[in-house]
Amino acid sequence: MQPNTPVTPPNESPKKLPTLEGTLQEPRVFVTRCAKCDCIAATIEIRSGNGTERLIYNGIVAGTGPGGTPISSGRTRAIASAFTPPYEAATIRAADFYDDAGFCASCGVFYCFTHWNPSTTGGGRCPHGHFKSLDPHWSPDD
Ligand SMILES: [Zn+2]
Ligand SMILES: [Zn+2]
Repeated sequence: MQPNTPVTPPNESPKKLPTLEGTLQEPRVFVTRCAKCDCIAATIEIRSGNGTERLIYNGIVAGTGPGGTPISSGRTRAIASAFTPPYEAATIRAADFYDDAGFCASCGVFYCFTHWNPSTTGGGRCPHGHFKSLDPHWSPDD
């Protein structure tokens, strides 16, 4: 049995590097605002934790509910680029929201519930008369 001489590493103790952990744990929140009245059209919140990401969405006529829904990191990136200005129809479409968070591709702006004026069938028209389906594929809140 040899005595184990403890080796002191020359200044190489694993120092904690400053990480982004704090900011990464913060929920990322994106808000779209109505071009007509400046009220909130939709809110999109992404929460990270335990290696998963959840989307909590509050859309024009419906959303995910407070529990949210798990999403892939690819979708997280798509959402982050879609709802960071400048807004573009193509990137917003890629974020894959059934109501595009209230975005009218023809006008190039967002509208709120009031200004989409949704009908009972789930369709709405923007103040310029462009039609949009705002009806989600209903999934009951769990
Ligand atoms: Zn409005
Ligand atoms: Zn429009």
